[in-house]
Amino acid sequence: MIGILNFSFLASAIGFILGLKLMSAPKNAKSGNIVTAISMGIAILSTTIAYKIGIDNFQNLIILVLVLGIGTFIGRFLAYKYQMTEMPELVSLFNALGGLCAVIIAINEGIIVGLINSSSMNLTVLLLSIVLGAASFSGSIVAYLKLGGKFKLKLGNTKLWSNISVLLIIGLIVSFFVLTNFIGVATFLLLLSVIAMLYGVFFASAVGGADMPVLISLLNAVTGVVTAFSGLLFESPIMLLGGIFVGSTGVFLTVQMCNAMNRSLLKVLSGQSSTGNIPTKTGEQDVALVTPMPASQLASVLAYSENVAIIPGFGMAVAQAQKICFELQSKLQEQGTTVKYIIHPVAGRMPGHMNVLLAEANIDYDHIVDMNDVNDNMNQFDMALVIGANDVVNPAALTNPNSPIYGMPIIKAFEAKQVCVLKRGMSTGYSGIENPLFEKTNCKLLFGDAKESLQAVLNELKKI
Ligand code: NDP
Repeated sequence: MIGILNFSFLASAIGFILGLKLMSAPKNAKSGNIVTAISMGIAILSTTIAYKIGIDNFQNLIILVLVLGIGTFIGRFLAYKYQMTEMPELVSLFNALGGLCAVIIAINEGIIVGLINSSSMNLTVLLLSIVLGAASFSGSIVAYLKLGGKFKLKLGNTKLWSNISVLLIIGLIVSFFVLTNFIGVATFLLLLSVIAMLYGVFFASAVGGADMPVLISLLNAVTGVVTAFSGLLFESPIMLLGGIFVGSTGVFLTVQMCNAMNRSLLKVLSGQSSTGNIPTKTGEQDVALVTPMPASQLASVLAYSENVAIIPGFGMAVAQAQKICFELQSKLQEQGTTVKYIIHPVAGRMPGHMNVLLAEANIDYDHIVDMNDVNDNMNQFDMALVIGANDVVNPAALTNPNSPIYGMPIIKAFEAKQVCVLKRGMSTGYSGIENPLFEKTNCKLLFGDAKESLQAVLNELKKI
């Protein structure tokens, strides 16, 4: 039986690796998800069979089926409830649940096995699972609330509170082991979890609103590490491996996000490089300072353009304009225009958000270029079409040291011969700051929902 178990674990591990590999290209991402889900199914099923769950104790089988059923129901419900634009919130919720799971597992293990006589390895893993799991749980809930603009707590000096929580965690652990029988194991572990949760709240609320992408991927990595710890506790190789995959990919993503935003991780975590909460909107930019462009005028410019850059942003996802964008691209290519999509790594609201959107519309990956490859030659484009993007093309990131996004690399759309920004009104983007691009002489704005505007442009283009 152990042989079969090990073989299924190996098959699941290979499945996870294959799934991750497939997910690295948007075209194959869906298959990657399916392969990974099947591998997880194999891991769960083989564990159930190998440990003869239900043979010796029928109650355990009922509990397992019940828990799996409830989990599947919640997962499916949440996945359908949240729109693509709300994915980071969903990821934060899943992270929170992962962290909470690790805490419950570790507390349960601690109470059953006891702490004083545990091996030092098990003890370290167990305590780390509780502290990191609890911090990841509450930190992810704060991230979830911040992303939805629902985090209203004013916590004062969060750095001070974070430091106090860390001291309390260390003090509690030391006193428990020095003064044995000072409190019961269950009380100790619960108290530890609560203080670690408080730490998670202070830690996450210190991170600036514009740095949320980094926080989300970091919490993701922490949840992976905690899962790996649970794998060590239960001596489950597949749990360990799954945790390591999530942890390591989370770390890579965090580093990439930091690079994309030109932030040092230390500065992000200490809230030094950005504003504390989701940036408050500074209201609307003065419409009198910008030049509107009707759809017919944009269509005429496009009709005579040889090189067009399309820069998608969060508004493209809101409008679900990707398919009509593909139609416009095809029409332009028919007339001999070269079309390139330039994607900023933090465009939208989750890593890879724009890649997913474009893949949904079957936009060929060959048409997507890296921003670093074209940024120095943006003047080659006759028209830069900015569809629902704002922060990622904001020149303030290069020129205004007081801006919360100062230092973040941007797509230099302002260097194209002409720029047209498709947006509904003069609202700011995620960072809540004005965008000087809109006031530049080579930039015009086509107001309206991006999908409707693109349809209107396409209709006009067909008439030319
Ligand atoms: P922004 O949030 O800066 O701007 C979005 C723009 O889209 C707004 O100007 C809005 O203006 C416009 N818009 C909204 N709905 C529509 C619509 N239906 N039709 C047309 N336009 C619309 O988006 P960017 O993609 O430029 O930047 C992403 C920002 O999100 C960055 O600041 C990044 O740090 C942050 N972030 C990114 C995450 C990630 O992982 N990618 C995660 C969390 C945050 P209007 O309302 O006037 O139409």
